[in-house]
Amino acid sequence: MNKGSCLCNSVTFTVDAFEPLIGHCHCTMCQKFHGAAFSTFAEVKLHHFHLVSGEEVLSRYTANNQTVRSFCKVCGSSLFFESSFNQTAKTIEVALACFDNLSESVTPDAHIYTESKACWYEINDQLPQHKQYRTS
Ligand SMILES: [Zn+2]
Ligand SMILES: [Zn+2]
Repeated sequence: MNKGSCLCNSVTFTVDAFEPLIGHCHCTMCQKFHGAAFSTFAEVKLHHFHLVSGEEVLSRYTANNQTVRSFCKVCGSSLFFESSFNQTAKTIEVALACFDNLSESVTPDAHIYTESKACWYEINDQLPQHKQYRTS
């Protein structure tokens, strides 16, 4: 079982299986949301995602581009992301760093939105880099 939680452990969740694409996202919104150089979100089918606890402390922020980011309002952990693409695909993006246990191997496959990469962060791995989403 893949199990995750926020920093204060109010929000806990499990994931049955991950979708294959796991990107490091360097967009400015992920930088702000995570307070970090980039985010690493894993895509999960909604029926493979189970919120075990914490619905009442989840806050949702809807940005100008209608993407929705969820975080724990007790500890501030950045947890979930949903765009119109996810709504159509019936998936949710889950922050990979918030998992405590991973029962399957997960390997990020690409860097995306590198056109807005933080100037103080250097990408030193061999993964493909896309200026925007994967097709660019
Ligand atoms: Zn929390
Ligand atoms: Zn992003």
